[in-house]
Amino acid sequence: MGPYHPECPDRLRSIGDRFISAGLDGQLRRYSAPEATDTQITRVHDAGYLALLEAESPASGLHFLDPDTAMNPHSLSAARHAAGAVVLATDLVMKGECRNAFCAVRPPGHHAERERAMGFCLLNSIAIGAAHALAAHGLERVAVVDFDVHHGNGTEDIFSGDQRVLMVSIFQHPLYPYSGFDHPAANMVNIPLASGTGSDGFRAAVRDHWLPALERHRPQMLFVSAGFDAHRDDPLAGLEFADADYAWVTKELMAVADVHADGRIVSSLEGGYNLSALGRCATEHVRELALN
Ligand SMILES: [Zn+2]
Repeated sequence: MGPYHPECPDRLRSIGDRFISAGLDGQLRRYSAPEATDTQITRVHDAGYLALLEAESPASGLHFLDPDTAMNPHSLSAARHAAGAVVLATDLVMKGECRNAFCAVRPPGHHAERERAMGFCLLNSIAIGAAHALAAHGLERVAVVDFDVHHGNGTEDIFSGDQRVLMVSIFQHPLYPYSGFDHPAANMVNIPLASGTGSDGFRAAVRDHWLPALERHRPQMLFVSAGFDAHRDDPLAGLEFADADYAWVTKELMAVADVHADGRIVSSLEGGYNLSALGRCATEHVRELALN
């Protein structure tokens, strides 16, 4: 996104460093992410939009697609690999080679709409993965869980009204992108939270709204838009989640997956901009996925 931008390469280094210092690194199996194919991408994005990204990808420097969202010469390839990570993770989990997976990827994806880049996002990786599970693996019901502090407007745009996909989310409101609160479709369980909401408010939203909806939907696989920017130390937002909330919500989601989905969960990194909190919270999340 350019120099001094919070969506920076150090985010992934911070997660990797924290996995090592937590003793988690040696417990994980690692895979390289292939690029998502045009066929996989155009299940959720307009072909004309993908062509526009290709055409506008700069040979040098930065090209701004909107005031928040820039591309450098490598950005589109990175976004294709990020989406390809979620596709590969879906294949590995569906084949039973892995019970679950976390995709440590940049750029994030959940703001990317069917025909529009937004909010540091070019391709909606989690939506591309969910669509792959439906189209390539024949699943009939999946869920997308989004605990990023920002509303996943792109994922909502893509799946709104698609009864195969239940999306459950929390987000700070009002906050960028100022969407998600106005008459969402029946398959969208959007829980806006006021600035200052902490662990109790988050856990109540999950218990009172997410879990009953997930029970009714009986998803055969869970996809997680794992943003860690609702943490109290995050500089971009005003929610007050604690490190332990990310272990807690992961356990709750694993319990749902165990009942309905043979444990199948694919999680992908979205936001999280305090490097220390990001590393710690991703470790809380992945430790549960890997060891419990
Ligand atoms: Zn975010």
